[in-house]
Amino acid sequence: MPTTTTTWQDEIRKLARARDAIVLAHNYQEPAIQDVADFVGDSLALSRIAARTDASTIVFCGVHFMAETAKLLSPEKTVLMPDARAGCSLADAIDVEQLRAWKRANPSAVVVAYVNTSAAVKAESDICCTSSNAVEVVETIPAGRPVLFLPDQFLGEHVRRRTGRDNISVWLGECHVHAAISPRDIRTMVAAHPDAELLVHPECGCATSTVWLAGEGELPPERTHILSTGGMLAAARTMTARTALVATEIGMLHQLGKANPHTRFLPVNPQASCRFMKMTTPELLLRCLREGRDEITLPAEVVAPARRAVERMIAIGTPGGGE
Ligand code: SF4
Repeated sequence: MPTTTTTWQDEIRKLARARDAIVLAHNYQEPAIQDVADFVGDSLALSRIAARTDASTIVFCGVHFMAETAKLLSPEKTVLMPDARAGCSLADAIDVEQLRAWKRANPSAVVVAYVNTSAAVKAESDICCTSSNAVEVVETIPAGRPVLFLPDQFLGEHVRRRTGRDNISVWLGECHVHAAISPRDIRTMVAAHPDAELLVHPECGCATSTVWLAGEGELPPERTHILSTGGMLAAARTMTARTALVATEIGMLHQLGKANPHTRFLPVNPQASCRFMKMTTPELLLRCLREGRDEITLPAEVVAPARRAVERMIAIGTPGGGE
């Protein structure tokens, strides 16, 4: 770490310029990493920024499947991440062999994969989705065709409820961070802040029961919003409430507070922190830019089909605003 008058942030910018790199940070990264990045956002929005930039190197501060998605959309660019061991419990919930077996058992089904999946799983899927367009993606599939939805059970349940389809099979995966945000956490926080707006990510363990509780009148339906991270930011920008309760990974609070300094954003569960996201440190980011590691590479036979699944999603609608 530089110790003289040069800060580590200055060093990051200097090294990035020298390497012709842009630095992207996911909304769940530590605030210091978000603040030093060129762009902050959800995984797919960042990958699309990466594809548009003239920079020859993309430094992705996030988790492994996100850097893979950036590589899929920019195969000619060098994609680096500060620590390639930063995985994702949700993406790890299904591997390519498990998906092939599921497809063999359901040969007429259309496979819809949330972007929180490995490139190899995307390559075995028909179309991808984000949390903000999952319903729209499934609605493009003819009503009579069965759907295999993976890997998030809470998002899958949300899609099943919203589309009213009974031919959607859902893989029983979950993100350990979101699943740990419980209906009891929601009830406790809403009781303590009865006038607050409630922003809930559809991956949360509480999302399904939140919709049910709102329907039963236990939560205020007009102040209960199931939103992707991009949707949360858009809602924050126009919010006039004094307090908002946020059910997602706590890194999101940094961007929400910047988008609207007049509203107090409180976590529904302050322990909801993703250890994989927090693996990116200033030291590792500096190492990444100095040494050009860790580089993300993908086998050629994975790139074309995985990219096709992502591009099919982009072609049908509003792809931004995933996790
Ligand atoms: S918060 Fe959950 S879904 Fe997101 S990267 Fe971490 S483990 Fe994966």
